[in-house]
Amino acid sequence: MLTQWETLEHQAMQEQWSYAQFLLALCETEVERRWSQRLKRSLNEAQLPSAKTLATFDWSHLKDFNPAPLMQLTADSGWLKRAENCLMFGPSGVGKTHLACAVARATVELGYRAKFFAATTLVQTLQHAKRQLLLPNTLKKLDRYDLLVIDDLGYVKKSEAETSVLFELIAHRYERKSLLVTANQPFSQWNTIFADDMMTVAAVDRLVHHALIVQLQAESYRKRSADQRSQTQDASQTTHSQVGASAPVPAETDNCRDN
Ligand code: ADP
Ligand code: MG
Repeated sequence: MLTQWETLEHQAMQEQWSYAQFLLALCETEVERRWSQRLKRSLNEAQLPSAKTLATFDWSHLKDFNPAPLMQLTADSGWLKRAENCLMFGPSGVGKTHLACAVARATVELGYRAKFFAATTLVQTLQHAKRQLLLPNTLKKLDRYDLLVIDDLGYVKKSEAETSVLFELIAHRYERKSLLVTANQPFSQWNTIFADDMMTVAAVDRLVHHALIVQLQAESYRKRSADQRSQTQDASQTTHSQVGASAPVPAETDNCRDN
């Protein structure tokens, strides 16, 4: 407000605003300034690995994919208030991390707090806390985030110590705060992540109870981009270039379901 009031006063004099109009304009400016500062802080603490957004996501790459349920998460914060989860599955390069960042960014823009973790880093952090007898404290500190993104859960290597902290986090947040989990493997292969079958069932059960499950199926976007680059190079190097047909994209109609 301090930096803006003189400009506003000048405008008020020129346009003959009433005192009430001037006061309103000052207050609006201050609210906007505070909001943009808060947004900057929240985006900073979210530590999203990339500035990827929904606007830069090419939905047409995912054939027959219905983006509506996912878009709903970015437009309406109801799922965060209800502590619901979002689980994204799909092979490497289909855009899981991109979409996870985009959803997290959108929730921050809605005024919520989010934090992104690579699953392996999160597990190391929690293990460290456990060794220091500080796990309950650390889990409680993470409660300040309305949304935690756990990216690439399948990369966590199975060992009693590692996966029990992950389970403790899932159990701690169940029906209290939201999780967005991405994974390469379907649930049927999660017994390679958690220590034993009972823990796997208990973790999956809690995650899916209130969750949007998103299945992404397509060829790797990275691979497609690399193929396109090499085709362009070939074409420019020789007039007799041979362009290979791109792999067919599996049709996927029922890609999102609510639990
Ligand atoms: P995953 O996490 O599934 O392995 P990423 O989200 O890391 O895949 O995507 C790999 C790269 O391809 C990233 O740079 C991402 O922005 C890009 N990408 C993937 N899918 C799309 C898409 N449909 N539209 C635009 N960019 C995409
Ligand atoms: Mg990824």
